[in-house]
This record gives sequence, structure tokens and C-alpha cells, in this order.
Amino acid sequence: MSWSLTAQERAEAIKAAHPLSSIVGQHVDLKRCGQELRGCCPFHSDRTPSFYVNDEKGQYHCFGCGAGGDVIKFVSEYNNMTFNEACESLEGNQRVILAKIDQSPRFSANVDLARKIWDEAGPIKDTPADEYLKRRLIFMRLLCDQENLRFARLPFDGSSELHPALVAAVRDVHGTIIGIQRTYLTEDGDKLCPDAKRSLGQVKGGAIRLSAGEEKGDFSTLYITEGAEDGLSILLVERDAPVWVTAGAGMMKHVELPASCSTVRIVADNDEAGYRAATQLGAQLVKSGVRVELSRLHEDFKDYNEYLGYFWEQEYARQFGKELGE
Ligand code: ZN
Repeated sequence: MSWSLTAQERAEAIKAAHPLSSIVGQHVDLKRCGQELRGCCPFHSDRTPSFYVNDEKGQYHCFGCGAGGDVIKFVSEYNNMTFNEACESLEGNQRVILAKIDQSPRFSANVDLARKIWDEAGPIKDTPADEYLKRRLIFMRLLCDQENLRFARLPFDGSSELHPALVAAVRDVHGTIIGIQRTYLTEDGDKLCPDAKRSLGQVKGGAIRLSAGEEKGDFSTLYITEGAEDGLSILLVERDAPVWVTAGAGMMKHVELPASCSTVRIVADNDEAGYRAATQLGAQLVKSGVRVELSRLHEDFKDYNEYLGYFWEQEYARQFGKELGE
């Protein structure tokens, strides 16, 4: 490649020589989907394929995290290279060497963005997030301050329109914020769509920490579950230990726990993915000497939040019965 080319000519030559799918396909399992190819996004934890590659346009786009660009951008982002390094790597036709996902700093831009969103987010009280939780019978006023939940208005999947969102901080085992999880909502406090959760930053290994107030800082007994709504429901029912929430079932087995943690109560969703995640984590923890209690919900409840509805009914009946008896 001649250096007398302008930067743009150089980029065009590189793009012409490297169809996007030939590079992306080395790292992502791509399947044909109409005019495009589709796979799981390498830039965020993607459970359903939301990463699209269009060879004709030479562009990729992720509907999950908004990542997008051409072959040079992909190589530079994937390997945390500058534009120039990415060009040189493609020109040299070297096989691009990848850092291991966990060690790669390529998430750092997303982590910074996640922290910025977190810093600018505000309290939940009297917002659509408050309403959303109330509709799930999670009454925040009954809980101690949940310092890891906030509210913000954010763009959804690359659109410029802002939507209300419940924002949860995802922290690593040392307590440092490494990402966020957003639940997108309508103004009325409904979910914006059935699949309304989006992670940003590096959520693998981390957890959303829900506090049980006076037990704060004591992690000897920990509840672990896979959704913030379930975590808050556990706090309302149990009230005796901190609850750590992983960003989805797939992240459960990766969660890193403090060394002081001696007992873990895993509360699984009542479905196959939930059980698999819980038993995988349980097996790992047992091996490392942690006492594990796997809690299985009655088949009537698909998750702990559904159980909370039943719990309130019982509480209400008890209260009501007591008043009648007096
Ligand atoms: Zn993505």
C-alpha cells in the first residue's frame, strides 16, 4: 500500500480488499438473514443475535448497543487499536490477534459512557421508574435507600428520542462501577417493549447490589438472582441479607463474590435457563468452599416477583384478619 494515497483512498482500498464479513466472520458466528448476515454482538453481552453485517454497504450495526461502522472501525474497536493500527493490520493482511475478551480494554469506552450515564442519572422517586416498580408491587418506600438504582431519560437502540429508564449500577467485586443495566420504560411506567433491558459496559463478573440497610458491607450471606425486580422482591420478603443481581441468567455463573462470603442463596427463575444458570453457579461455588442454598420457587410462580404478589396477599390477609379479631 502506497503512503501517497490520501487517508480516504487508503481506507477505500482496504475496504475493497477486505469484505466486512470475511473479517467479522473470524470472530463472530454469522448467519444469513435476508440481505444481511447476523450474529451475536461482540461488543456487548448479547443473548439474541442483534449484530448485523451488510457486505454491500460495508457496514455493521448492533441494535443492542449501537455499535456500528466499517471494516476498519470493526478491527480498531475489536482490538482496541487506533485507526492507523487497524489499517496497518489489514494492509499487512495479518491475522488479527485478539486479546482475550476479559482482559481486553476495548470495553473501556463503553464503561466510560456507562459511568457518565450513571453520574447524570437522578433519584427514582416520583418518576416512571417508581411507577414501574409499584406496578410490580415493589414499594421503594418500604426499602432502605437503594443506592444502585437511579432514573434517567436515554435514547433506545440508537434512536434519538429519549425514553424513561430504570438505571442500575453494575459493580465489580471491589465495588467499582463497570457498567449499567437499563430497563426502558414508557411515561406510564410500562416496559417500553417486552425485551426492554440493555446492558452497557462490562457487566460480566459484576453485580447490581441491592442493600438490606443495616447489613450493608456484611456480605457473609448473599442472595443472588438474575433480575433487579426479583432482587427487590427478595429484599421486601426476606429483609435480612444483601441481594446481588446479575445482568441476566447468562451472567450468573460469571459473578465474582467477595472472599468474606460464606453462604450464598441462589434464587433462580422458574424456567430452564434460570435453573441452568443457578446450578452452574452453585456447582462452582461449592467447589470453592462456599455454602450454597438453591431456592426453588413453587411451580405457580415464574419468578420471585410473582411470588411477591402472593406474599402481599398473605400479609394483607394476616393484617386484615388481625383487625377483625381485635
Ligand atoms: Zn452490541
